[in-house]
Amino acid sequence: MTTTPPPSTPAPSGRPATYDLVVVGAGPAGATCARAAALAGLRVLLLDKARFPRAKPCAGALSCQALHQLDLPLPENLVEREFTGGRLWYKDRCIEAHKPYRAGVLVRRERFDAWLVEQAAAAGAEVRLGQAVRSVADNNGRVLARTAGDTLSGRFLVVAEGASGRLKTAVRPPDRPRDYTFCVCADIESPEAMGDVPMDIRFGIARAGYGWVFSRRGEVSIGIGEQGDRLTNPVALMHALLAANGFPATTRLVGHKIPMGGVPRRVAAGRILLAGDAAGFADAILGEGIAYALASGRLAGERLAAHLAGSDPEPPAAAYTAACQSSLGEELRQTLYLARCLRLAPDRLLAVILSDHEALSRYIDILAGKLSYKAFNRWMLRRLPLFLWRAIVGGGGGPRRRAGGVAPCTPTRRE
Ligand SMILES: Cc1cc2nc3c(=O)[nH]c(=O)nc-3n(C[C@H](O)[C@H](O)[C@H](O)COP(=O)(O)OP(=O)(O)OC[C@H]3O[C@@H](n4cnc5c(N)ncnc54)[C@H](O)[C@@H]3O)c2cc1C
Repeated sequence: MTTTPPPSTPAPSGRPATYDLVVVGAGPAGATCARAAALAGLRVLLLDKARFPRAKPCAGALSCQALHQLDLPLPENLVEREFTGGRLWYKDRCIEAHKPYRAGVLVRRERFDAWLVEQAAAAGAEVRLGQAVRSVADNNGRVLARTAGDTLSGRFLVVAEGASGRLKTAVRPPDRPRDYTFCVCADIESPEAMGDVPMDIRFGIARAGYGWVFSRRGEVSIGIGEQGDRLTNPVALMHALLAANGFPATTRLVGHKIPMGGVPRRVAAGRILLAGDAAGFADAILGEGIAYALASGRLAGERLAAHLAGSDPEPPAAAYTAACQSSLGEELRQTLYLARCLRLAPDRLLAVILSDHEALSRYIDILAGKLSYKAFNRWMLRRLPLFLWRAIVGGGGGPRRRAGGVAPCTPTRRE
């Protein structure tokens, strides 16, 4: 990280300096929140336990839906690769669909997240890296964040600590294993990484869960994910996926959680707001969370700024909860409905989806920001009689070539 803003000025008489807003966690949610609040004129402190650039387990797919949430254009040098569609496998069957337009880009999270923090600092937020917050408290009209050597005080606090931290318990109970997807993954340096398709998604690996192989420049992101209480022996599953793609079993693996969006959770209480993964905002199908982290971070920063400027008399916890419900809630619930259907009958549903290029083509439009999950689910419901018919007569045949930029893939495997 090149940006090193000055440390905060201590208040007279040894009392801690007071900020309008203290943000804990400088991932996409925290950095975006800090930027939005600082741009609106608030005195903001952004803290992270890591020093940036820092690694983050992530496949690095930034959909157009996510790109639309940025208030600045993404610098081209952060784009590892563009994608217009992808390849979907279910056991030994596969289909592929591409659009004539961009559906998103692949990035390296360490570089993307460091850029977001630089934008927060450029907007005027004070950034302190390498400082873990151990506890937070909402007391007597102010919030306190305690680190190993300091107590930081603010009028409001946003917890954007990601999926795994425990500070969020100041607002809600921790997630149960059935409330998140557990992933095991690896980033592997590979000179051949620019494979023919950037996004390759494998269903049928872990019950209703999935695997992915995303090819960036010189690097492959590979992993598996499944609902936390259903995943048995994830390391063995991951070794099988590695072997099927010619990677050694000695590859270093990391495990991480993604919250299942749509599970009802409290996202704010008193002077503390949760954003991003800490609030549980991620797509329950493929775990897309960056778009929701950017959106919720911005909403938190903007709602707090409006309140402190006197233009919104509603308590920020209520205003933020309502804003999240109206702009993110419905979509997240729709991802959860679809994920539940997948879990009820994964074999049947995936077999018929793989016999219908139109379904994949429409799904890509969700990533491209052209279709909502709600519209997609409605379309799927209307298509249900056809799907049922295909299931009864045996899956409706294999992948077929269709017009409109959609082409079948050859189901080949690297041994
Ligand atoms: C394996 C995997 C693959 C994924 N792939 C994709 C993908 O391709 N596309 C997509 O859109 N989403 C993907 N996601 C989801 C995405 O990574 C998250 O939704 C997103 O990172 C959430 O952003 P955030 O800012 O809420 O949290 P994070 O990005 O997790 O940031 C949290 C920050 O808080 C800091 N922190 C934590 N605790 C403390 C503390 N006590 N004190 C100070 N700092 C603290 C951490 O160091 C970290 O920098 C994936 C997730 C996983 C696990």
